[in-house]
Amino acid sequence: MTTEQVAPAINPWHVAQRQFDLAADRLDLDPGLRQVLREPRRELTVHFPVKMDDGSVQVFSGYRVQHNLGRGPAKGGIRYHQDVTLDEVKALAMWMTWKCAVVGIPYGGGKGGVVVDPKKLSRREVEGLTRRFATEIEVLIGPERDIPAPDVNTNAQTMAWIMDTYSMHVGYTVPGVVTGKPISLGGSEGRNEATARGTVFCVEEAAAHLGMDLAASTVAIQGFGNAGSIAATLISQHGVRVVAVSDSSAAIHDTNGLDIARVIAWKAEHGTVGGFPGSRDISNAQLLEVDCDILIPAALENQITARNAGSIRARVVAEAANGPTTPDADEILHDRGVFIIPDILCNAGGVTVSYFEWVQDLNRDHWSEEVVNSKLREIMGRAFGETLTLAEAQSVNMRTGAYLLAVDRVASATALRGLYP
Ligand code: GLU
Repeated sequence: MTTEQVAPAINPWHVAQRQFDLAADRLDLDPGLRQVLREPRRELTVHFPVKMDDGSVQVFSGYRVQHNLGRGPAKGGIRYHQDVTLDEVKALAMWMTWKCAVVGIPYGGGKGGVVVDPKKLSRREVEGLTRRFATEIEVLIGPERDIPAPDVNTNAQTMAWIMDTYSMHVGYTVPGVVTGKPISLGGSEGRNEATARGTVFCVEEAAAHLGMDLAASTVAIQGFGNAGSIAATLISQHGVRVVAVSDSSAAIHDTNGLDIARVIAWKAEHGTVGGFPGSRDISNAQLLEVDCDILIPAALENQITARNAGSIRARVVAEAANGPTTPDADEILHDRGVFIIPDILCNAGGVTVSYFEWVQDLNRDHWSEEVVNSKLREIMGRAFGETLTLAEAQSVNMRTGAYLLAVDRVASATALRGLYP
């Protein structure tokens, strides 16, 4: 590719605002409300030192953004990634507001991020970074105010460190300050699998709607972290053939279907899915365009754009990632008859079980995995049905349907509360 052909980087915040504007226009939203919902309520930027293993000090930058608090405390993950920007975190926070509204759980939207590649740090350095970042954002977080959770490159251990740091500062244990914790520290059964399980529920609903036979279908999955690898496992249990998967360093393809348990073991041993015996190495770009019925983007934003939307061969795109498809690509896919299950619906299983975890923590209760999964299925099934009904009634795609549902719920709550003072 020559320099002239390099596409300009797409700013996720501009994407998020454009998606909101489309819904606000259709809802004919009051201009004042529109201005309120179009911007985040609070944006905190922090720069903080961490003592590295070699004795040197390194300063890291991080963010916590609260987009909206109208329907409840802010809720949303914290990601560690070298490309994190304030605009990305703002977009992710806004998407959390709509996501919580689509599934009808009593939260607003928030998100956090630290600019770091944690794979280059030791475990002790990641712990130090996490505890100091938690301390810096303590002006915002709390079980009634803003409740972080895992996201890209963070996990149950990260949440345990944040919970412990917060608890040490207040002087008693506060499990409800974060979700996605280890089960032994007040985590919920089923939380680790929840994002993927919710995505698979949505795929089942979409297949029923479109008359697709899942047992005769194929899937390609971009991203092999918490969402992608567990989605691969769960969907293959439905008889769906997983023909391609990728991670941040490689992508593999096998038209006969990959044995997912073996791919997971391979990745654990080699650090990547690349080189998996019997598979063909392909590029990340090729993965999105392989011949398959269902495509699950489960990595980062802006993967399906106007440049490659015309080459996507899947009939269903199930967005386990946040923001994987740009508005231009949405239009192209919709015109081509591709059924998109939008992120704010498709990956809402994670935050839904986070809500269950928080409710259990506040009540000092613990539910069985069976109870968690059946409540999750009920909520996802209802949200999918409400979105589809609205999309069909208004002759719009599923993304616009989900936005109409969500923005209307948040706008009504905001209007009912009125303006202070
Ligand atoms: N990070 C996940 C998301 O993007 C989960 C958020 C949560 O559980 O609060 O939805």
